[in-house]
Amino acid sequence: MSLKSINDILEVLAAQPEWQEPPFQRLLACWAQVVGSMVVAHTKPLSLQRDVLRVATSSAAWAQNLTFERQRLILKLNQKLSIGLKDIHFSTAGWQRPQNIPKKQQTISRQEHPSYVGDGMSIDDGDVTPKAKDANAAFQNWARTVQGRSHNLPLCPLCHCPTPPGELQRWGVCSLCAAKQSLKSC
Ligand SMILES: [Zn+2]
Repeated sequence: MSLKSINDILEVLAAQPEWQEPPFQRLLACWAQVVGSMVVAHTKPLSLQRDVLRVATSSAAWAQNLTFERQRLILKLNQKLSIGLKDIHFSTAGWQRPQNIPKKQQTISRQEHPSYVGDGMSIDDGDVTPKAKDANAAFQNWARTVQGRSHNLPLCPLCHCPTPPGELQRWGVCSLCAAKQSLKSC
């Protein structure tokens, strides 16, 4: 077989639909153009299977509105991508990204937290996680809290630092020493 005939075969193969970019990839590439900049922020195409496109939406209202408009979108997509799309299913399922799910730790109340030392000395009114929005103010709050705390607190038997009683009750030492100990045991 000559090199030329191999090239001919490769050319024929490259023209076959299955050697081209998968339809879903092409759909993703032009999705924003088809639905418009308003809609694109509230939609996320998930999959294209058996000529049915599944799209996650940010809310049930968006799913409803877009369901009414889906014939127009199907037409546009079929023209643009020359595919045989038959239907689009919009639903809120699959919208939530993993990083949006709050960590378990953030939901415990501050009273339950071993570093809790009483209402007058709490770090803030809400959860135990300092709010990242104003890191500077959060730090100053924290510094003030630690200074205020240092008076009248029992001392950690290991490092002799003033320690919230809750930490001593839980670990027998301060939270820093407890953390160091758990690191050693790993
Ligand atoms: Zn300690």
